[in-house]
Amino acid sequence: MINFNVPPYTGKEIEYMKEAIENQKICGDGPFTLKCNEWIEKQTGTTKCLLTTSCTHATEMAALLTEIKEGDEVILPSYTFVSTADAFVLRGATAVFVDIRPDTMNIDETLIEDAITERTKAIVPVHYAGVGCEMDTIMDIAGRHNLMVIEDAAQGIMASYKGKPLGTFGDFGCFSFHETKNFSMGEGGALLIRDEKYIEDAEILREKGTDRSKYYRGQVDKYRWQNYGSSYLPSDMNAAYLYAQLELAEEITQARMDRWNQYYELLMPLADEGKIELPYVPEYCIHNAHMFYIKTKDLEVRSRLIEFLKQRDIMAVSHYVPLHSAPAGIKFGRMHGEDKYTTKESERLLRLPMFYKLTADETEYVAKQVKAFYR
Ligand SMILES: *Cc1c(COP(=O)(O)O)cnc(C)c1O
Repeated sequence: MINFNVPPYTGKEIEYMKEAIENQKICGDGPFTLKCNEWIEKQTGTTKCLLTTSCTHATEMAALLTEIKEGDEVILPSYTFVSTADAFVLRGATAVFVDIRPDTMNIDETLIEDAITERTKAIVPVHYAGVGCEMDTIMDIAGRHNLMVIEDAAQGIMASYKGKPLGTFGDFGCFSFHETKNFSMGEGGALLIRDEKYIEDAEILREKGTDRSKYYRGQVDKYRWQNYGSSYLPSDMNAAYLYAQLELAEEITQARMDRWNQYYELLMPLADEGKIELPYVPEYCIHNAHMFYIKTKDLEVRSRLIEFLKQRDIMAVSHYVPLHSAPAGIKFGRMHGEDKYTTKESERLLRLPMFYKLTADETEYVAKQVKAFYR
């Protein structure tokens, strides 16, 4: 059986977790958490990184720091994970969905400006499959309309747009280290902060509204309740698990890239014959092989292909069901403009097995079976 995903594991995680236990510091902001923050700051060049309990929580923090409130509007794609909308809807905002581009499956940047009203507070681009959104255009629109930008870079670590790492363009960037992502800690994420002015508020928010982060650094002799807050910091044991993978980030990314390129080459003949479509990566985007997908003619063909592969012990899966037509999407949001591609393209998209230890033989077998289906 070839699973769709196997959580990444390098072998060193157990050693680091043991070290965290022996440090007798298993709560948040211990040595491994600080190492992960530093690693991400160095790799991305962001001003400040704070490890969180999930990408969902990082996005919630961004919504709180942006002071999103009832009546505000936030512009995002409908083709995304629920968390992208949840974080803002929880604050009482309305999710304003715009259509995606069929080539990258990212928000169509040319439709954003028309969706802006006097209530709009933020734009939330989602870098699907680790392929960057058109950030030049998005940052230009945000600048001209005085809007915040919060990047859902859940899938975007180690990827860049025109040489700049994803998650570092907007006011805030959010990474995920869920077990389905390139690097994992089971459940976890990170908040990337661009402007220094938000660091102190973010630390307080993440530590139940207290200045405990300052206390840990010896900057105050006791910590006190400073503001509203919650518990957004992960255990140092989980951070230890993640740190083992960050240390091997290049190797893990390269291994995924090799499999991605192998799929691409093996499936090219089917694309040339017009039977399937392959993913598109703009030349100025460096992706991270988070995902390999193909597009079938339509929903009916995709369902048959999933079944065909399943019978051959291959787990291939669909992805997001558009948010705007889901029960909560109708309740908390609206689609601005036409749904030309969101539903249609989401119904055609099929993700093939992709994970760190996927072998070349397994990749070849999957590609061979996809070809067999079309014969
Ligand atoms: C995985 C994912 C999330 C949620 O990440 P968690 O860490 O599970 O909260 C949000 N947005 C996108 C685009 C994702 O892929």
